[in-house]
Amino acid sequence: MVKVNANYLKLQAGYLFPEISRRVNAFLASKPDAQLIRLGIGDVTEPLPKACCEAMKAAIKEMSGVEGFHGYGPEQGYSWLREVIAKQDYQSRKCEISPEEIFVSDGSKCDSSNILDILGQGNRIAVTDPVYPVYVDSNVMSGNTGRAGDLGRYEGLVYLPITAANNFEAQLPEEHVDLIYLCFPNNPTGAVASLDQLRRWVAYAKEHQALILFDAAYEAFIQDPALPHSIYEVDGARECAIEFRSFSKNAGFTGTRCAFTVVPKTLKGKTDDGAEIDLWSLWSRRQSTKFNGVSYIVQRGAEAVYSSEGQAETKELISFYMENASIIRRKLMSLGFKVFGGEHAPYVWVNTPSNMDSWQFFDHLLHHANVVGTPGSGFGASGEGYFRLSAFNSRSNVEKAMERIALL
Ligand SMILES: *Cc1c(COP(=O)(O)O)cnc(C)c1O
Repeated sequence: MVKVNANYLKLQAGYLFPEISRRVNAFLASKPDAQLIRLGIGDVTEPLPKACCEAMKAAIKEMSGVEGFHGYGPEQGYSWLREVIAKQDYQSRKCEISPEEIFVSDGSKCDSSNILDILGQGNRIAVTDPVYPVYVDSNVMSGNTGRAGDLGRYEGLVYLPITAANNFEAQLPEEHVDLIYLCFPNNPTGAVASLDQLRRWVAYAKEHQALILFDAAYEAFIQDPALPHSIYEVDGARECAIEFRSFSKNAGFTGTRCAFTVVPKTLKGKTDDGAEIDLWSLWSRRQSTKFNGVSYIVQRGAEAVYSSEGQAETKELISFYMENASIIRRKLMSLGFKVFGGEHAPYVWVNTPSNMDSWQFFDHLLHHANVVGTPGSGFGASGEGYFRLSAFNSRSNVEKAMERIALL
């Protein structure tokens, strides 16, 4: 019989979102008429920008004729898309990133886990706690951890707690690590990093010859112009960081699928015998072998995000969600909750009230307000006592959910 990847058996059985579904379904079975409002999973709700739809329609029209037909495209993405990304997302912010360093893909969830393909075994790996579960689970699947202990923390990973006590700013690891996952603006806490904070990470990475994996999927939600959108705004980051970006949250592409990863040509890793090798070539090789590119139609849709209409429409989408976040923040603060995030990110992170733990508060909200959120402990042991509410919903649902929470 075929052997399975035994690392998968180390994954925690009660993974967060299936457990949420289980509790929601059990509740709905007893109360089928309940009008649930879901502020749980971070999926967008508003329609695609018109500019993207028009561009995709035009691309379908092209594809329907022999002359405009496109078969396989370049695995790394079409150059017209990579050029506009390099120019508008990076060069405009004085980040020295070239189109060849951009790899277009079908999602940054995939990229942030696939990146482990080009990294070896035995790296010391640091993640924040709480954390976007993909970073941890992909390392478990790749055999980079031991088993999960009592708190659900895996042996072999270095966990960096982020809580109100440190203002959601992880301390630099006291020990040596080789790989560091950072996500700003942060999912789940909604925290954002200052330029100084990123400078400290880059300095650590350079000192330890470590690699930073920087997830900037939520950069478009940053409201304060002084805050960095990219790790490459820090000098030296080209020598120590890979950045993930996505059109999922800024342009509503969660169901359309387009993202990109930046791998500077100046990044190095080492082989078992200590020879230096550049990561760009390895990622390029990995993508050419295992990936066949994003559809022409979708890449035309993503290109339209950078048109003036696309920019105006995505800005409006973001403002819409950020107003939701602000409504959630204001209401919960007025009710006496301790509220974090939601100012530069579509997530509001709150302390659970009355000594309830995260799952108790989840059940309380579900049963008494018919509102679904996400228990903080599902993102890591240090998320215990917190709860995440997402701003991705209609205005009326957000307002209704807040009215119901006020009546608790
Ligand atoms: C939503 C999200 C992404 C985007 O993933 P896609 O696969 O591009 O849809 C990436 N990172 C984090 C932390 C996210 O929450």
